[in-house]
Parts: sequence; structure tokens; C-alpha cells
Amino acid sequence: MYALRPPAEPGMPIEDVDTPALIVDLDIFEANMARLADETKRGGIRLRPHGKTHKCAIIAQQQIARGAVGQCVQKVSEAEALVDGGITDVLVCNEIVGQTKLRRLASLARRARIGVCVDNVANIEELSIEAQSFGVDLRVLVEIDAGVGRCGIEPGEPAAQLAKLIDELPGLTFGGLQAYHGGAQHLRTLAERKAAIAGIVDKVNQTRAALQRAGLPCPEVTGGGTGTYRLEMESGVYTELQCGSYIFMDADYGRNRDEAGEPFRRFAQSLFVYTTVMSRPARDRAIVDAGLKAVSIDCGPPLIHDQPDLEYIFKGDEHGQVRLPDTGHSLHVGSKLLLVPGHCDPTVNMYDHFVGVRDGWVESVWPITGRGPGR
Ligand SMILES: *Cc1c(COP(=O)(O)O)cnc(C)c1O
Repeated sequence: MYALRPPAEPGMPIEDVDTPALIVDLDIFEANMARLADETKRGGIRLRPHGKTHKCAIIAQQQIARGAVGQCVQKVSEAEALVDGGITDVLVCNEIVGQTKLRRLASLARRARIGVCVDNVANIEELSIEAQSFGVDLRVLVEIDAGVGRCGIEPGEPAAQLAKLIDELPGLTFGGLQAYHGGAQHLRTLAERKAAIAGIVDKVNQTRAALQRAGLPCPEVTGGGTGTYRLEMESGVYTELQCGSYIFMDADYGRNRDEAGEPFRRFAQSLFVYTTVMSRPARDRAIVDAGLKAVSIDCGPPLIHDQPDLEYIFKGDEHGQVRLPDTGHSLHVGSKLLLVPGHCDPTVNMYDHFVGVRDGWVESVWPITGRGPGR
């Protein structure tokens, strides 16, 4: 491993942090973690936060210290980063395919309790072979097609047949159902999100009935994200929630509406990209050093924190333009700004470190060891 130079050190004032940098407001981040931990505890449901949001074992440890049962991830590389950092219970809530990856997964199960999702027979057979050759037991969940055009098998009978195969094959234990509705998280109104989650709850119920007919118990129904988790919790069929973004939030979640039609503010923005003004070429324009390589583009441009009258416009890999009011603005070359990313996960994926800040001072620098393309 080569050492990457962090943009900050503990004890620095935030103004000295080099840019672009990924900043976490620790007070807000901790309040977000505590809020969902309390809600799930009160609701009697387990919380297995999604590690693809942070890809950082230090954050995973903090979630577990507040009562989370473990972590979920999308990629074997994320699972490896978390297990290397001491996490002992990880569910890969995605399909993992090919001998190279399956061997890594089985090898990981020698050091931690590992679960994985499946939606086809050949993959289950390969998992059984690798689990046996590594002498481990893998927890295998059947992923139900949520109808969003991603992975998953048809609910009901076809899903129950896969569960039966898992139950029969050595090295594998049927762990229950993966039922995550990715398309529902950012539906803007509560009514739309309710309708979508009612649909997937129905699919879970069909599958549970088919499992019962096959004489198979269903130990777990896991799913749910930051946008819908209360609905999964209230459905009574989920045993575990997989929220990820709630610790950081982003501009896209900021566009969701709550039951009163107000912006969804159960969790507050704790994640920012810190950027420096490099040029001030015109009265109504500042150029900053955060471009495509510093903040995600998939959910639109970032917002400028606490300055709704300013607008960010992407200007390439290393440049962003900030539109200023015609009346002028006090920003000057060297000024620093906080951006609110459009989408938290892919923004985090661009950085090697989180810079944790409290009351304007850097308190911690945490490596993002699970970042990358996700192998
Ligand atoms: C991304 C993801 C989540 C978490 O969603 P958030 O919106 O970040 O809370 C949960 N489960 C699965 C399978 C996911 O892909």
C-alpha cells in the first residue's frame, strides 16, 4: 500500500484544509446516526447500515457501537475493506459472479459472518463449491425483483425454488429475502413512495407464502433505504433495514418531500466538498477548484452550502463556476466554500479521506479504504 497524502491533520482550523477535500460535520453526522439508531430501536427492527455510502470501517464501527447489527455492501472489495477494519458481520446485498470473486468472498467468510444475495441457479451452485473448498458456511439470501430493472428473481414460487436449492446444497444456509426498492428512494412525494413500497411488500408476502408451502422458514427480510425506511418498518414484514445515505445526506435527498409536503429533513446535511476560489474573472463569476473529479454529476450539480442565491455550474474535470449575483459578492481568490454534493455515495468514492470537523476545527482524518470501481 502506498500512503496517500491526506488534505488535513487533526488540530488544524478548517480554513487550512487543502482542497478539494471531503468534509464531515461531526456533530450533524453523529446526530444523524443517533436518530436512526433510536428510531429503529423503538420500532423493534434491526439496522444494518449500507457501507457503500462511507466505505470506511471507522464509520462502520461507530454505527455498530450505536446498535447496528453489522453492515451491508454492494461489492466484495467493500466487504474486504470493512472486515480488514474489524467488522465481523457483512452482507453483500448484491449478486457476486465469477470464480475470482467467489473465492475472495469464501475466503472472507473464514474471518467474518458473510452473507450474499443470489437470483440464479448457476451462481448458487458455484457458491456452494467455493464455500465447501474454503470450509465455510455462507448465508445466502434470495433477491426479489423489485421491478426496477436490476437484479432479482420473480417473487413467489420461482424465489422459493431458489431458496430450496440453497437449503439443499452444502456450505450454504438460506438466510431469507433481499427486497430493496432502489427506485422508490427518490420518488418525491410520500404518496408515490408509499405506493412503491406497498408493491414490494406484496412481493415479499407472496414469496413468504411460497416458502411456507415449501416448508422453509424465512429468517430475514432485509431492505429499505433512507427515503422509505419508515414504510418498510411499518409494513411489519421487514426484519432489517439497510439505510446508507442517512449519515451524510445529499442535494438529491433534499428534494424529497415529507408527509406535510415539506422538504425531507429527518436527517441533516453532514457531508460537504470543500473548494477554493481559483479565479474571479468577472463580477458575477467565481471559478473554484472542484470539478467533475471532485463531486458527483449523476444527480445534478452540487449546491453551495447556506447560499441559495449562488449557483454551481460544472466547467470540466478541475473547474467549477459559481454564479454570483449581479450586484457583486465578497468572494475573492483564495476564499473557500462548502458544496453540498448532488449524490453522496459516488462523491465519497472519489476521495481517499474524510476530514471530520467540529466547531471549525479538524478532529479526525479517516481513510476511505473501500473506495474504487468496486471489484
Ligand atoms: C444503496 C442501497 C441501500 C441504501 O440506500 P440509501 O438511499 O443510501 O439509504 C440499501 N440497500 C441496497 C441494496 C442499496 O443498493
